[in-house]
Amino acid sequence: MNSNNKYKILIVEDEDNINTLLSALLETNGYQVISSRTAQGGLMLFNSHKPDLIILDLGLPDLDGKELLKKIRREHLTPIIVLSARSDEKDKILALDLGANDYVTKPFGSGELVARVRSCLRNSATLSGGGHSPGKTFESDGLLIDYDSRRVFIDSVEIKLTQTEYNIIAFLSEYPGKVMTYSAIIKAIWGYNDLGSTKKLQVNMANIRKKFGAKPGKKNYIINELGVGYRMCERD
Ligand code: CA
Repeated sequence: MNSNNKYKILIVEDEDNINTLLSALLETNGYQVISSRTAQGGLMLFNSHKPDLIILDLGLPDLDGKELLKKIRREHLTPIIVLSARSDEKDKILALDLGANDYVTKPFGSGELVARVRSCLRNSATLSGGGHSPGKTFESDGLLIDYDSRRVFIDSVEIKLTQTEYNIIAFLSEYPGKVMTYSAIIKAIWGYNDLGSTKKLQVNMANIRKKFGAKPGKKNYIINELGVGYRMCERD
């Protein structure tokens, strides 16, 4: 956070109407905004202003947004939310695997975008404050994960998970609120990625959701980001 006590957000987006709309939306919500219509301009603003968060469009006129993401990620952990069109599923996944913190699909609702910005800033504050240690437990709305005993409870009732199922839950809970791609989860759990891995992950996840009693109208602790990955709910 900078001296005037407002988070500074850098928008890199070449479409004038989206850039203008985003700037107005974020300023209304109490953020300081700087913006660029090109990747090169965005990189210059990043270096000179050291923003707290970046909203990055992937389709830029001078350079692929993913290249800018790579350049920044080489040296900085600044949270990055990627903007992408609905048709660019592959790009979105690639951007997440390159280190983007989250994505928002165009066209987006203003409430959704502001919520993602808040969550990203909150998570990065937690990380820089306490390293990456998740503590001894994870708690969210009735869900309790006890890392020491490797046990999981919902409303104080133990949910019996296999080792693999537990490993998946424990991994996702290290990154609450952040979408983790299939390949990131697979690498963390099995250490390799082969043809059947995504299917194996989906089967495990279906079992977890069954054991968690996922029903319409009931709280989903794990959000299924279709075609991309999974997102753990945020901590209490
Ligand atoms: Ca664009």
